Amino acid sequence: MKDADPQFTRLKEILHQARRTTIFTGAGISTESGIPDFRSPGGVWTKYKPIEFQDFLASEDMRRESWRRKFKTDEVVRAAKPNIGHMAIAELSEKGLISSVITQNIDGLHQLSGLSDIRIIELHGNATYAACLSCRKRFALEHVRKVFEIDQQLLVCDACGGIIKTATISFGQPMPKAEMLRAEKETLACDLFLAVGSSLVVYPAAGFAVMAKHNRAKLVIINREPTDLDGIADLVLNREIGCTLGKLVDM
Ligand code: NAD
Repeated sequence: MKDADPQFTRLKEILHQARRTTIFTGAGISTESGIPDFRSPGGVWTKYKPIEFQDFLASEDMRRESWRRKFKTDEVVRAAKPNIGHMAIAELSEKGLISSVITQNIDGLHQLSGLSDIRIIELHGNATYAACLSCRKRFALEHVRKVFEIDQQLLVCDACGGIIKTATISFGQPMPKAEMLRAEKETLACDLFLAVGSSLVVYPAAGFAVMAKHNRAKLVIINREPTDLDGIADLVLNREIGCTLGKLVDM
């Protein structure tokens, strides 16, 4: 009998044949939870130009603008729940089919899906809390918001007087060393690198897909639209993430 879905069958085969699989996720995995991505039509960048780290540091006005945007969009992130794609990854991990998840996402939804913390590498930090840029002391967003609501005041760190920012990595901000090292280790150790819901244009993050391929791992991409790295991939599925990963768990 003819295989009704040879691409999906190939995906399943590759996953089951792999000795060690690293998953790499981008904003696309969270759109089914209601969080817009950056580059799809209607995505965040059609509305806002990103604030560079240097500009955030240099100007109080920029910091205020950054917090205004954060509080305006925070409801969406706070209300979001893991979707079928996040849950499928957690289940595949439970089954021993995934060794790590390198994520560009800052929404904390992999953690909420039940995926163990030790499997998650957050390359771009986490937007669900804030931290002092000097001493790294953590602050609840609610606390920053309460102070901001008084004439748009900027909370400063009560331990060292430093600038407080969401615990994310902005454009122009140095990448977190420990996470980059862990991601490199996992990339070089895997023989399957599965990129899910990323346009693969943000570097250095997207460089891990290239690194895996150069190291002779198979590169598989699941993304609605074509990506810049389709040309070097072993398999590309231009599909919706939730139903694709969900089906993978069921089979
Ligand atoms: P991106 O916006 O550049 O690309 C997302 C890709 O996902 C697009 O190519 C789109 O076609 C695809 N996609 C969207 N929904 C999909 C679905 N349901 N099924 C299949 N494909 C789908 O995102 P990126 O590559 O992750 O880079 C953007 C940067 O923005 C990252 O650094 C990330 O930190 C940040 N970001 C994070 C979030 C989040 O945490 N949820 C949201 C927006 C942006």
